[in-house]
Amino acid sequence: MVHFIGAGPGAPDLITLRGARLLAEADVIIYAGSLVNPALLEGRKEGCAVYDSASMTLEEVLSVMEKAEQEGKTTVRLHTGDPSLYGAIREQMDELDKMGVSYDVTPGVSSFSGAAAALNAEYTLPDVSQSVIITRMAGRTPVPEGEALAKMASHGCTMVLFLSTGLLEDVEKELMKGGYSPDTPAAIVYKATWPDQKVYRCTVSTLAQTAKANHVTKTALITVGGFLGTEYERSKLYDPTFTHGCRKGTEG
Ligand code: SAH
Repeated sequence: MVHFIGAGPGAPDLITLRGARLLAEADVIIYAGSLVNPALLEGRKEGCAVYDSASMTLEEVLSVMEKAEQEGKTTVRLHTGDPSLYGAIREQMDELDKMGVSYDVTPGVSSFSGAAAALNAEYTLPDVSQSVIITRMAGRTPVPEGEALAKMASHGCTMVLFLSTGLLEDVEKELMKGGYSPDTPAAIVYKATWPDQKVYRCTVSTLAQTAKANHVTKTALITVGGFLGTEYERSKLYDPTFTHGCRKGTEG
């Protein structure tokens, strides 16, 4: 059995209870060492074999899983944040299906949630944005034409960019081409929830210079949109006049 587990964004106590339990019971752990906090490995079972997937190929990862399975062992595949986002889990699951190895997935707290927490922000403010676009700038990994950054930016909603910190000059251009004004608020969140977390608030047109001035080249999320500003409407949900399924309002 293979358990895919979301490790959370960095702080070791942000893994789920289920993830922590499965991790403590694992015979074999394969973790994404470039981003998963190694502190998470401290509670592992004695004799547990640990592999850092940062330097491994898909084939090598699968062969560790296959061997463990043949020996009747339980493997944990520990991915950063939530495994469903840029986790490359589908290709592993499809191969495990072919091998007849069973698996399940335990979700994790994604770094985009960690970044909102670091910013004390709400991505979905009434009258500002009710949608969050999670995407990336095309780099060595291409992005489908219909999802070009300028097209995504044309909605003017909240955006969270993964894997794009090294391409911020292009990011700025694309965001403005899509319709964000140069002074739209933006923020770079470096290592959200880690002890060395940093938050840099800026604007769409100063993303590249802000990252450069602070030597941020990776492990960061770029967030963009009016949710980082000061204007918004209060919610209907907690408005005294508003009636809903759980409460009668003072009006209507
Ligand atoms: N599955 C992960 C994302 C993996 S892709 C998740 O849900 O968070 C790796 C990218 O995620 C990094 O390049 C960076 O853009 C972002 N990232 C991961 N952890 C981060 C953190 N703690 N703070 C900021 N960005 C992070």
